[in-house]
Amino acid sequence: MIAIAPPRVSDRHRIHAPDLDMPPRLLLGPGPSNAHPRVLQAMGLRQVGHLDPSFLELMNQVQELLRYVWQTENQLTIPVSGTGSAAMEATLANTVEPGDVVLVGVNGYFGLRLIDMAKRYGADTRSIQKPWGQAFDLSELRTAMEEHRPAILALVHAETSTGARQPLEGVSELCREFDCLLLLDTVTSMGGVPLFLDEWGVDMAYSGSQKCLSCPPGIAPLTLGDRAVEKLLRRKTPVANWYLDMSLVSQYWGGERTYHHTAPINMNYGLYMALKLIAEEGLEARWQRHQETADRLWSGLEEMGLSCYVDRDIRLPSLTTVCIPDGVDGKAIARRLLTEYNIEVAGGLGELGGKVWRIGLMGFNSRRENVTLLLAALRQVLSEA
Ligand code: PLP
Repeated sequence: MIAIAPPRVSDRHRIHAPDLDMPPRLLLGPGPSNAHPRVLQAMGLRQVGHLDPSFLELMNQVQELLRYVWQTENQLTIPVSGTGSAAMEATLANTVEPGDVVLVGVNGYFGLRLIDMAKRYGADTRSIQKPWGQAFDLSELRTAMEEHRPAILALVHAETSTGARQPLEGVSELCREFDCLLLLDTVTSMGGVPLFLDEWGVDMAYSGSQKCLSCPPGIAPLTLGDRAVEKLLRRKTPVANWYLDMSLVSQYWGGERTYHHTAPINMNYGLYMALKLIAEEGLEARWQRHQETADRLWSGLEEMGLSCYVDRDIRLPSLTTVCIPDGVDGKAIARRLLTEYNIEVAGGLGELGGKVWRIGLMGFNSRRENVTLLLAALRQVLSEA
């Protein structure tokens, strides 16, 4: 028999990888924000299995704490394994059936993403538009509901691309009048901006871990209320996304504990700690802290002659868009803040590209000393521009 030599291992990609080190950035952009040190510490704890009794107990606590932070009694309240976009997609994948009319409020970048996703699940998508940085009022929403008669109305509570907050008062009554589900993006509001999902009649919502929750990205809260679950159970077609099918995933998070996919154990530790920290602080205190820190930033910007893009009554405390003055190279200023001061702020997204800086004061980062530092650094680089 002829001996065949085994293939030789190629060392072409066997680079000499340096030890891992990252610069000490202060993340004051639109997210991720810096994770709380206790969250990072929790993520480094030893692993247990995803069906270990201690992990099952932690899952229960995560669900309870998510209900607290969202102010909801929804049974189906879980973290999705993925980023905010995964939870966003989960809301649509589970409740949209081909041909359903989905009406999306588009007043920024993330409304456009909702449309893109809903289309991929066969929705007949419609939109109601408003200039970026503004919010919809109830009469505009009513007119659009009368025209489109949607099965789902999707709104972004906190538009990270503009820094505008969408008021929700009266919207759920409208949705019930038109027998329509209300879907809410709370990625940049959860844990930093007042949110009362049940009080506001929100049927489904999602968020991300990396903004006001102060956990790294990679796990994303999702909640479906009774009306949304009913729509899921009444489906004529299976959920077109296996990974995000909540009729399957909820069996793992519910009583059965049936394996669906391996939960990201240490991400759940991180989320647990992030939520526990919110419960320790208390929602009212936390919302107030975000507001006070933002007020301090807004006053400081005003003193420097800089103006905010969004009207104060709907301006998000978690995310501020600042108009870049004429003749100033916004990108160059942000680059100098990063390289000289280790402070990350971001430029505008989509329509607001080149027009604004986006400054996030989220969760653990929403602190007076960060505002002082940022304003001083900004004043310095602007004076040298
Ligand atoms: N919705 C909003 C309002 C967001 O700000 C983001 C992310 O910035 C997302 C959805 C998507 O989340 P992710 O980037 O975590 O997938």
